Amino acid sequence: MARIFCVANQKGGVGKTTTTVNLAAGLAKVGQRVLMVDLDPQGNATMGSGVDKRELRLSVYDVLLGAAEVREAALAAERAGYAVLGANRELSGAEVELVGLPQREKRLKAALAAVDADYDFVLIDCPPSLSLLTLNGLCAAHGVIVPMQCEYFALEGLTDLVNTIKQVHANLNPELKIIGLLRVMFDPRITLQQQVSEQLKAHFGAKVFDTVIPRNVRLAEAPSYGLPGVVFDPSARGSLAFVEFAREMVARAQRPDFQ
Ligand code: ADP
Ligand code: MG
Repeated sequence: MARIFCVANQKGGVGKTTTTVNLAAGLAKVGQRVLMVDLDPQGNATMGSGVDKRELRLSVYDVLLGAAEVREAALAAERAGYAVLGANRELSGAEVELVGLPQREKRLKAALAAVDADYDFVLIDCPPSLSLLTLNGLCAAHGVIVPMQCEYFALEGLTDLVNTIKQVHANLNPELKIIGLLRVMFDPRITLQQQVSEQLKAHFGAKVFDTVIPRNVRLAEAPSYGLPGVVFDPSARGSLAFVEFAREMVARAQRPDFQ
């Protein structure tokens, strides 16, 4: 059975896509079969996995609208080491088209059921909004991974996401929970970041992942080479941290409740 996780945070630029592609590559590196689903019309996770979004014959758009199966639309991103269900600008139209369709929040979930035995992990990169696309991600998932920077407003920014997750849990997907908060772009030399990190642990306890992802320029450079940092420069500090995070996720996923 595939473990399905959404990488979500309604803020843009917090590291969702970087987390998705590097966790996918890290999981592949430690021997897991991984499908990465790009739910963001910007298609950054698609490009960052080495798949050209402009050349997609079929994408997650076709899957959501019921015009293609996941198995037909997913591509092997050979160098990255995992399969990609890609996205491009076409997906921005899906928001409107989905409104009139039956089970509009659960279409990704239904489509992924067909490949449940093909993968150990499915990771979904969400857009920076609480839209119908993100709802499809949250309905399909067992849990949410929330990347966050340890900045002054970090906790405040979480409130909307936590409320949305509660509502989805109550109304649409009783399995859904926050798996954990991932501290990203961390710089231990900045006192404020250390303080916010301590606050996070005090507030959320074991929901804060042990692994911390440092700020590391190699992670930021990798997408321009069409590769996750973990593959582009495996010895970079950020890459090592993501492989460590992959191991942490494998361990958590083995516990019955992911706690
Ligand atoms: P989101 O998907 O939430 O919009 P991204 O993953 O695209 O965020 O990250 C935003 C920017 O920050 C990108 O330019 C990315 O390369 C950079 N970035 C993300 N994580 C790190 C990191 N750990 N170290 C350095 N740069 C990072
Ligand atoms: Mg993104």
